[in-house]
Parts: sequence; structure tokens; C-alpha cells
Amino acid sequence: MSGFIKVVGLGPGNGALITPQVQAALDLATDIVGYIPYVARVTPRDGLVLHASDNRVELDRAHNALEMARAGKKVVIVSSGDPGVFAMASALFEALEAMPSYQDMAIEILPGITAMLAASAALGAPLGHDFCAINLSDNLKPFALIEKRLRLAAQADFAMAFYNPRSASRPEGFTRVLDILREECSPHQLIMFARNVSRPDQTLLTVNLQEARGEMADMRTLVLLGNSQTRRVGPFVYTPRFSTDGA
Ligand code: SAH
Repeated sequence: MSGFIKVVGLGPGNGALITPQVQAALDLATDIVGYIPYVARVTPRDGLVLHASDNRVELDRAHNALEMARAGKKVVIVSSGDPGVFAMASALFEALEAMPSYQDMAIEILPGITAMLAASAALGAPLGHDFCAINLSDNLKPFALIEKRLRLAAQADFAMAFYNPRSASRPEGFTRVLDILREECSPHQLIMFARNVSRPDQTLLTVNLQEARGEMADMRTLVLLGNSQTRRVGPFVYTPRFSTDGA
């Protein structure tokens, strides 16, 4: 029996946003591997083994998945959103780099709808022009690098999507992020807080930078900063496709 690994994205939470390709992989799996709340989103069935683990053990998880696949299991590693966006696909390749004898394994990455795209759609079209995505967690990089990227992206007038904005272990980090953005951007620039996007308890909040507060975000929030042209239209927020500023 030949095993495989598929690293799949479960989307932002709503079952309707799981792609048919990902659902087919889940239906075929013998083993599901992932962070506890993501594994909990997979419907149990006979013959399916669930391996749920804590979120700080990505490399161990990837290693175990490779061993199970080599033993003939059909392993599906689940991430929320898209597996390539601040998630398990890179962790798997990091493990693979250190395990050359596994590099002929049947591995596939199946995309999912990442949080910034679901949040953007819920709000209107705030990412309608050039944008970038920044992970605000300083677990895997120093805050000085986050600060540099924020300042340069703001100077280039990118709209920005912020993942992992604020956690219990670093409640003040996001307040510093807002202070940096206020130094670089107009106080009237729009900032959006999209929490639990696509779930029954979804909330959306749009304010301008001068009104934004650290407490408006938590780990279930995707934050979007508009560019200098981003504006409201009726209940929506959008960024025009043209840019008038050559800066
Ligand atoms: N791979 C995931 C991101 C993992 S990082 C993806 O592609 O979406 C986890 C961060 O994603 C959270 O802290 C939050 O900022 C964001 N996020 C994930 N799901 C979300 C949702 N349903 N609503 C709002 N933000 C979400």
C-alpha cells in the first residue's frame, strides 16, 4: 500500500468554504494530523485516526506525518485557511529538508481560502489594489523585523493584512504596531477588524487609524489596513484599482 501526505486548507471556518478537492482528500484519509481545533473540524468516521496536537509542535507533527506516510498511511495534515499561509506546508518542507530519504514521498499541497480573502470579501474589496500580508507574531522572528516591514509597506502605500495580531502572551505588541502605523500613515486611513470570519459569530468593525485600539483585535481577528485611497461606499469598504499617487 502506498502512502501519501496531503497538506490541506480547511478555509476560515464555514464548511461551505472547504473546496471539493480538500473534501475529497479528507474522505480518502486514514490519518488526520494537526492543531487541536483544526482536527476538531474534521467529521469523525470509522477507520479514520485523528492525531491532534498543540500548536507549538509543528516540526514534530510534520516528522510524524512523514513516518506514517512511509508506513503506508494516507495522511492529511490540516491547517485553517490556506496551508501555505503562516501554516503547516512550510513546516512540512522544513522537516523534509532535514530528512533527505523521505524526499521521494508523494506530497501534495491543496489550497484553501485564507483568512484575509474571506475577511476582504465580507467587508467589500479592501484588497482591490496592491497589498501585502504580515504575520504579527514574534514567535519566529524579532519584533525589529516586523517594525521594518510595517514602516516600508506603509511608506509604499500598500494595503496590509495582519495575521496573529494579538495573543494573551503578547497583549502589548499590537498597540506598538498601531503606534508605528500612526507614525507612517494618515490618521484617517481605514483599519478593519474582522473576527471569526465566515462563522455564525462573525463581527466586522471599521474605524480610522486614530480611533483604533489594541483591544479591538485578538487571535481570532484578521486586521486589514486600507491604503491612502481606501474608502467606504454604503456599508462596504473598497480600494480603487487605480492609484493617483506616484510615490
Ligand atoms: N493558515 C491560516 C492562518 C493561520 S495564522 C489562513 O490561511 O487563514 C492564524 C491567524 O489567522 C489568526 O490569528 C487570525 O489572524 C487569522 N484567522 C484565521 N481564521 C480566521 C477567521 N475565521 N476570522 C478571522 N481571522 C482568522
